[in-house]
Amino acid sequence: CGIVGYIGQNDTKEILLNGLEKLEYRGYDSAGIAMLNDNGMNLFKVKGRIAALRDRVDNSISATMGIGHTRWATHGVPSEGNAHPHQSASERFTLVHNGVIENYQDLKKEYLSDVTFVSETDTEVVVQLIEKFFEKHQDTVEAFRQTISLLKGSYAIGMIDAKDQDTLYVAKNKSPLLVGLGQGFNVVASDAMATLKVTDQYLEIFDQEIVLVNRSFVEVQKLNGTVVDRKPYTAQIDS
Ligand code: GLU
Repeated sequence: CGIVGYIGQNDTKEILLNGLEKLEYRGYDSAGIAMLNDNGMNLFKVKGRIAALRDRVDNSISATMGIGHTRWATHGVPSEGNAHPHQSASERFTLVHNGVIENYQDLKKEYLSDVTFVSETDTEVVVQLIEKFFEKHQDTVEAFRQTISLLKGSYAIGMIDAKDQDTLYVAKNKSPLLVGLGQGFNVVASDAMATLKVTDQYLEIFDQEIVLVNRSFVEVQKLNGTVVDRKPYTAQIDS
């Protein structure tokens, strides 16, 4: 399983699909991508291979930001409905997740008893919580931070707010996640293999950090909001 994300100047379709193909070796049962442009969120998911996802994606869509996912089901059967990305009730927030949210049932009971869930996954709780906290604070970073602070378990998360074409929201705990740095673009991936074609400069992300990824900058924060200063490293390519 794996995640990949891109925000930049170029069309994101191929970067996401190629990235997911590079992550295939990690194993998966379904896959999906979400791409945001002026027309809104464009979501494609399939049960099965990346090749099937490639066929499903509408090639006429062009977008300069997006997230992709290969799923190894832990909660809910492998199916198109349980495949990621998942969306909040209003469809404003769209999210991919690798890992297991151990306290998802408690979170559902405590905060989301009025929400109708459309999948069987632990992941959907995360994106519904973001919307719940957004309704309260009208601030996406705050809603994201509050949600992440409540999660127990493992996660690599990529999230998009449909009203913001300039930010990928990223978080990690006990699941691998890197941010790759480019000129005028940045990428996110479970493993550098997924994006080595586009950059060899990477920022390591540590557990319980959140990252705001823009086209021209990347900001790493601790869960209390403190900004972390971190230098990139050059990924070595074996040949
Ligand atoms: N627990 C999530 C699910 O079952 C994510 C699984 C994964 O890591 O791919 O959908």
